[in-house]
Amino acid sequence: MALDGRILRRAMDRLEEDRRNRETHTAELRQQLYARDPFLAGLDTQIRSAAAEILDVALRRGEDPVAAMEQLQEQNLHMQEERRSRILRLGYPENCLDDLPVCPRCGDRGYVGREPCDCLMRLYREEQRRELSKLLDLQGESFASFQLKYYDDMKDPDTGISPRQHMHLVLMACRRYAETFDGKGSNLFLSGGPGLGKTFLSACIASAVSEKGWSVVYETAVNLCARYEAIRFSNRGDPEEAEQDVRRYLQCDLLILDDLGMERENAFTVSVIYEVINARLRSGKSTVISSNLSVEEVSSRYNAQIASRLAGEYENLKFYGRDIRRLKKEE
Ligand SMILES: [Zn+2]
Repeated sequence: MALDGRILRRAMDRLEEDRRNRETHTAELRQQLYARDPFLAGLDTQIRSAAAEILDVALRRGEDPVAAMEQLQEQNLHMQEERRSRILRLGYPENCLDDLPVCPRCGDRGYVGREPCDCLMRLYREEQRRELSKLLDLQGESFASFQLKYYDDMKDPDTGISPRQHMHLVLMACRRYAETFDGKGSNLFLSGGPGLGKTFLSACIASAVSEKGWSVVYETAVNLCARYEAIRFSNRGDPEEAEQDVRRYLQCDLLILDDLGMERENAFTVSVIYEVINARLRSGKSTVISSNLSVEEVSSRYNAQIASRLAGEYENLKFYGRDIRRLKKEE
C-alpha cells in the first residue's frame, strides 16, 4: 500500500493537534477542580513527590529499601484513594485528570513499530476523502445511487440488449473492480459520449477504494498534462509543486485519469499520456481512464502503442445511452 506522503502528513498533524487539544482540556479541567477542591491540588503534589521518593529509596544503596518502600507505597495508595473519591464527589470520572491516550494501541503516536496504527489510518482516509471531494462529488455518488432508469430500455436490434441492460453490466463491473481492488495493477478504460455517467462511476470507485485505505488520486487529463508542462517549460507554474503532483500520479495505488482526449493535442501531451500509462503498467499500479474516445479513436489521436495498451491491459467498458445530464434537466 503506497501512502500519499502529503496526505499522511496532514493526518499526523491532526493526530498531534487532537492530542494537544486534549492536554489543554485536561489542564483546564484540572484548574477548575483544584479551584473547587483546593485539597485535591495538594494531594496531586504529594502524590508526585511520593513517586519521586519511592524511586529515590529504591535507588539508594547500602541499606535495605524494602521496608521503607512498602511504607511509602502504602501511603501513596491511600492518597490515590482519597484523590479518586474527591474527584468522584465533584461529579467527574475518576481518571478524568490522567491524560490517558485515546488509542491504547499506539499511545496516540500514530505508529506501532513502523506500521501506521488504525487510528492514524482513519484520519488518513478522512483526509484523502477531503482531497478527493475537492474534485468529485463524493456525497451523493455511490454505486447504490446510480440511476439505471435514465438509460433506454429498448433492445438494440443488432445486439439484442438495451442500453439499460448494458449499463447494468457496466455498473456491476465497476462495483466488482472497487470491491476486489487489491493494488495489483488492474485497469479500466471507460469510454463513451459525455453525460453517460463515466465521472460518476469513477467517483464511486475512488470513494470505495480510498475507503479501504488505498491511496487514490483523481485528475483530469488537462490538469495532468499542465503539471508536466510546468516542469518542462518555464512560466507554466511552480515546477517543485508540479513535481510533487507528478510523483503522486505515478506512486498512488489508484490513479483515476478523467476525460482523456480533452487536453491540448500536441507531441508533448501525447508523450506525457504515454509515459503515465506505461510507467504505471511497469510498476504494476492500477489506473482507471475515462474518455469520450473509443480505443480506435485513441489510436488515431495518439498512437498505436497507447491504443494497444488500452486494448490489451485495460478492461474496456463502453457507456451507452443518451446524455443523462440533459435528461435530468428535462425532468
Ligand atoms: Zn493508534
